[in-house]
Amino acid sequence: MGKVLIIGAGGVGTVVAQKVAQNPDVFTEIMLASRTKSKCDAIAADVKKRTGVTIQTAQVDADVVPELVKLFNRFKPELVINVALPYQDLTIMDACLEAGVNYLDTANYEPKDEAHFEYSWQWAYRDKFEKAGLTAILGCGFDPGVTSIFTAYAAKHHFDEIHYLDIVDCNAGDHGKAFATNFNPEINIREVTQKGKYWENGQWVETEPHEIHKPLNYPKIGSKESYVIYHEELESLVKNFPTLKRARFWMTFGQEYLTHLRVIQNIGMARIDEVEFNGVKIVPIQFLKAVLPDPGGLGENYTGQTSIGCRIRGLKDGKEKTYYVYNNCSHEEAFKETGAQGVSYTTGVPAMIGAMMFFKGEWHKPGVYNVEEFNPDPFMEKLNIHGLPWVELHDVNLEL
Ligand code: NDP
Repeated sequence: MGKVLIIGAGGVGTVVAQKVAQNPDVFTEIMLASRTKSKCDAIAADVKKRTGVTIQTAQVDADVVPELVKLFNRFKPELVINVALPYQDLTIMDACLEAGVNYLDTANYEPKDEAHFEYSWQWAYRDKFEKAGLTAILGCGFDPGVTSIFTAYAAKHHFDEIHYLDIVDCNAGDHGKAFATNFNPEINIREVTQKGKYWENGQWVETEPHEIHKPLNYPKIGSKESYVIYHEELESLVKNFPTLKRARFWMTFGQEYLTHLRVIQNIGMARIDEVEFNGVKIVPIQFLKAVLPDPGGLGENYTGQTSIGCRIRGLKDGKEKTYYVYNNCSHEEAFKETGAQGVSYTTGVPAMIGAMMFFKGEWHKPGVYNVEEFNPDPFMEKLNIHGLPWVELHDVNLEL
């Protein structure tokens, strides 16, 4: 059906490459490009071994628009799946406009010199994409991504109005390391050390980092201390579902993880500004990334599972209703299938399905859209087929 270019050869890029190759009826030609070509080559070799499919590889610096445009004009993809870093979102979108290529990503734009993310920068491209007749699909991982689609599905099928949304993200896996992040350490640490924020009664309420917390029960896992943090899908969900009175995002953290995080911050290793060291300028958090375990390499001894879902309260036929939809994903199963751990898997599979939605014409709408603005039904169906089956519970105690 179509030619796809994947940019980024980390943990998520590994899963996207494997899953795209598993679906040759949809993805007829595949290229994987990243800053370090040897990583693309290693992934391509593993894809060949597992699926028999040949993936082309290329080197590209995705911070440089002309380099991207040159690559796009050479390979001529119909869609780019951006699983590099959030810093590259705008340059890749610019190159897409210049070369006439559609776009999909899993994380919203974040400037390198400011630990701050929001959609405004990418939403500002809406007119340009619309005029060019190109589709840009934003936030198509698990969270954002599946959590947004779960919400859209609930609003479409189970509620007349959704009022309270709690996205609950639990990673009950054990990778055996004292401290490691499950995706890019720089992005992850920037995200979890910022102030908390949630939506209530038409405005944002800010909290100190990890100020609000309580134990929540997760299916097949049990009780885990869960913390309110700000997460990017809240921004688009409260806009697209204006009946929401409150929207929060909860993530589980172990005490050991939080202690490490506190030390990292206290000793200045989470700093994102440059410091001088032995005559060279370094950014402490980037140096830290270099010495921490590579998230893409955590898979081998990773046990346990993730459980991510949406707990929703609202009205149906004039009566109050509760609803919980979730997926549990096993790190071991993910590793067996793709060579990557569960967090990369739960991000890469939805990115592949989003691309599939585009090529099948289900999600084809010139402009820039968050995933909840598309029809959730065909996507939900594919989640069950491609490795992330979901479970629905009606009229349950949401604990919230
Ligand atoms: P990694 O750090 O493992 O991989 C990032 C890849 O991008 C690396 O291969 C890196 O190259 C490449 N890259 C970085 N800068 C450039 C550049 N300038 N040009 C070309 N390539 C570049 O990250 P992950 O795979 O863990 O995460 C990928 C993305 O997925 C991130 O944006 C992250 O925020 C997002 N994510 C989304 C989630 C969701 O549920 N929505 C959950 C988890 C992650 P090199 O190898 O040379 O460093």
